[in-house]
Amino acid sequence: MTGQKVWSTGAATADFGLLLARTNWDAAKHRGITAFVLPMRQPGVQVRPLRQMNGHSSFNEVFVDAAAVPAGHVIGEPGAGWTVARATLAHERRLASFPPPPATATGLAWQQAIAERTAAAEPHKWYPQRAGRPDLVIPQARSAGRSADPIVRQEIARLIELSWSARWMADRVAAAKAAGQPPGPEGSLGKLASSRIAQQAARVHTLIAGTSAMLTGPGSPLGGIIAEILVSVPGISIAGGTDEIQRTIIAERVLGLPREPDASKDLPFRQVRAG
Ligand SMILES: Cc1cc2nc3c(=O)[nH]c(=O)nc-3n(C[C@H](O)[C@H](O)[C@H](O)COP(=O)(O)OP(=O)(O)OC[C@H]3O[C@@H](n4cnc5c(N)ncnc54)[C@H](O)[C@@H]3O)c2cc1C
Repeated sequence: MTGQKVWSTGAATADFGLLLARTNWDAAKHRGITAFVLPMRQPGVQVRPLRQMNGHSSFNEVFVDAAAVPAGHVIGEPGAGWTVARATLAHERRLASFPPPPATATGLAWQQAIAERTAAAEPHKWYPQRAGRPDLVIPQARSAGRSADPIVRQEIARLIELSWSARWMADRVAAAKAAGQPPGPEGSLGKLASSRIAQQAARVHTLIAGTSAMLTGPGSPLGGIIAEILVSVPGISIAGGTDEIQRTIIAERVLGLPREPDASKDLPFRQVRAG
């Protein structure tokens, strides 16, 4: 297996990766892809962490050079990797966060598992800021003496309105999951709502803090957290599929609008023009 992939979150600490590889160049582009479990710790796999604009390094470039994949590591049918990818992404979009360990998680195996997860989560400790930290908006407005400002109040109300409707939608998704239904396009509604909430929260934080929102270090608003919010929020509109792609999924699979035209849909992949 040979190739290159950018943006792989957690690859630097992963033992295994989910790899989608083109295995048939004569099939149409959505067919002819196979999903594999790639053992990451082997000489043919090199991982280079990327430094993001918020200073963290949670995603990576992965270089695969004649790496070996055991025959039993194919997921699903050969050539049906697109189905695997869609199911994986639907789960990713519905997954709000890791569940906390249960109260009974006290044994040695649990301690080791929690320590391993904490170490693996270290590069991702900015994730709360990526969501815009709506929880900090009202305390910040109060401590900055801006809570009586009508413009600030109006923008906070808009944020609360977005957050509550997203929470009710998440409750509906959780109920569907509890009823054993597979994840569907509703994950895209939740993903898009998270982007809008994060953007609105970042907007209100800026309105409250003014230009000092850009400062980091001692004396900066919330010890640099507001600045970290501003440079982390854009990522949520990209990760797991961009806002535009979520809108297309919602249009086609929730609203039933005609599919986006795609002239290359049925062409053999080797005839599809790149770029
Ligand atoms: C924090 C973070 C973590 C990530 N983690 C992972 C990871 O673990 N694994 C992984 O594989 N990837 C990961 N990604 C990558 C992410 O999934 C992709 O960057 C994202 O899906 C967009 O794909 P792209 O970069 O190829 O952009 P492109 O598809 O090239 O899109 C570029 C622009 O064009 C727009 N666009 C593209 N197609 C259409 C269309 N049909 N209609 C309208 N607009 C369109 C997009 O919305 C975007 O604005 C991560 C990204 C971020 C920011």
